[in-house]
Amino acid sequence: MREQTLILNSIPVDELTGSIATPIYQTSTFVQDAPGVHKGYDYSRSNNPTRKVLEDCIAALENGHAGFAFASGLAAIDSVVKLLEAGDEIIAVDDIYGGAFRLFTHVYQKFGIKINYVDSTNAQNVANAVTDKTKLIWIESPTNPTLKVSDIRTIAKTAKENNILLCVDNTFASPVSQKPIDLGADIVIHSATKYIAGHSDLIAGLVVTSTQELSEKIKFIQNASGAILGPFDSWLVIRGIETLTLRVKQHAENAQKIAEFLQEEKLIKNVYYPGLKTHHNHEIAKSQQKYFGGVIAFDLVIDDKELASQIVSGTKLFKLAESLGGIKSLCCLPCEMTHKSIPAEKRYSSGVTDSLIRLSVGLEDADDLIDDLKQAIATAVKANADKASVTA
Ligand SMILES: *Cc1c(COP(=O)(O)O)cnc(C)c1O
Repeated sequence: MREQTLILNSIPVDELTGSIATPIYQTSTFVQDAPGVHKGYDYSRSNNPTRKVLEDCIAALENGHAGFAFASGLAAIDSVVKLLEAGDEIIAVDDIYGGAFRLFTHVYQKFGIKINYVDSTNAQNVANAVTDKTKLIWIESPTNPTLKVSDIRTIAKTAKENNILLCVDNTFASPVSQKPIDLGADIVIHSATKYIAGHSDLIAGLVVTSTQELSEKIKFIQNASGAILGPFDSWLVIRGIETLTLRVKQHAENAQKIAEFLQEEKLIKNVYYPGLKTHHNHEIAKSQQKYFGGVIAFDLVIDDKELASQIVSGTKLFKLAESLGGIKSLCCLPCEMTHKSIPAEKRYSSGVTDSLIRLSVGLEDADDLIDDLKQAIATAVKANADKASVTA
């Protein structure tokens, strides 16, 4: 079955009533026929029929064994870390999502879990970092905000050979573009807040497991820790997923056009987008992604925070806000917003300079988005004409 058909076909018609739309079972508990005799549902933390539709759908989309819906992407990540024990080690991509960095370093380290951050864009670095304590490899591809791409197939081989779990944060690619389990990963997580729900109207997370054993463990943790997604938000995510293929295709088509435009701009130094031939791992991205996503980052020839700040404040269609993956275009200045808590030196070494701008390209017409960027850049340049390198 093709992707968009698979999505719609995996969201069933309600058996009880024939409702074509998934009913919202907004209930905490379920009446039992006799003690312990029920219709498969007893309490909504353990199981809820609306949440189950979403969980089955994401499992089908990621070619996994089971899916689990959480109250946020970070709650999803948290459930995977809870598979570990004190003394275990995680190897994680150094350009990791800030919230995951905070959780690993500032919450789990004090419980005796060690984290080793490596540049996984070279798969050999991951192999070199393996010790007999390593229990989990944590990859994001592409990463936030500089769109670094790691070779999931090769890293999966290293994980298998050493009996280590590989978890891929697939938020930026979406399951429409990239299927980590097919590439050898054991677990996939999503911030469904982004492309999967797609409308910037909720916070949600998903976990997909590849084996029955992992499914049972995550199910246990989900119920034991309790950070489940509520029925109404589950329904909104289902509503979003129904158009995922169409949105992801259009986000990527728009982003490609905009990235190519940005490459021609004199004021711009680096453009980071996996769909550009100049991207350092373009060939690997091509081998594992069907589309290149909707996020672009770029920095300026003069690394001036003020100038960059004026550009992101001067756009009209690109709204200045954190987050990404929604239908409306957003822009942000990571050094002052999403990446402010990261020490400047570490930030710089991962490419997040003072002038780095991140775009989440939405579904407006690409030419209007390009015009918007053109006017914002021109206005900012005019205002900074006294700075020699801006006019040069
Ligand atoms: C946003 C994001 C998260 C965290 O998800 P929340 O839903 O905000 O908790 C994790 N990973 C990546 C790559 C993200 O972009």
